[in-house]
Amino acid sequence: MSFSPILNQLIEALRCLPGVGPKSAQRMAFHLLERDRAKAIKLAKLIQQAMESIDHCQLCRSFSENALCNICANPQRDRTQLCILETPADVLAIEQSGSYKGRYFVLFGHLSPIDGIGPEDIGIQHLLEQFDSGEIQEVILATNATVEGEVTAHYIATLSKQRQIKTSRIAYGVPIGGELEFIDSSTLARALAARGEIL
Ligand SMILES: [Zn+2]
Repeated sequence: MSFSPILNQLIEALRCLPGVGPKSAQRMAFHLLERDRAKAIKLAKLIQQAMESIDHCQLCRSFSENALCNICANPQRDRTQLCILETPADVLAIEQSGSYKGRYFVLFGHLSPIDGIGPEDIGIQHLLEQFDSGEIQEVILATNATVEGEVTAHYIATLSKQRQIKTSRIAYGVPIGGELEFIDSSTLARALAARGEIL
């Protein structure tokens, strides 16, 4: 490339973002230089501050700048319920549903022997410490509905059931407003298997 060394470095550095290829990185760098220098400096400072101060919550492993995140530190949350998910984004999704008042545990991934991801990589040891604390009475497995998500859910369910903890898996089924003819057959099969009585 024929740009100045710093500009080249900036373009290269922007490529660390997901989905950003060489052309998009170039466009971003030019945009920041031409139109948004003040915001770019603010962004750079915030990135540095976030990278230096945000760590993992000691209980749920989600991102937090304090030892405990806002959810774990909240005395109103039910400490007997633990919902286990793959990513911090999944925590936000469930929080936005407004239908859960327990605590969370974030795996930051799922079991995947092919990629060399084992129990120690998804915090199982840390999870077992919480299972063994005696505080948790119910585990809700909310890993993704993928092969790896299912395998991970089954693995954790075995561990929680061994400890006599009530264990459930979130249901899959027909989305609100969804029409049956457009739903894939495996989702529909799961929806039928997990059907509930009309109250
Ligand atoms: Zn937390």
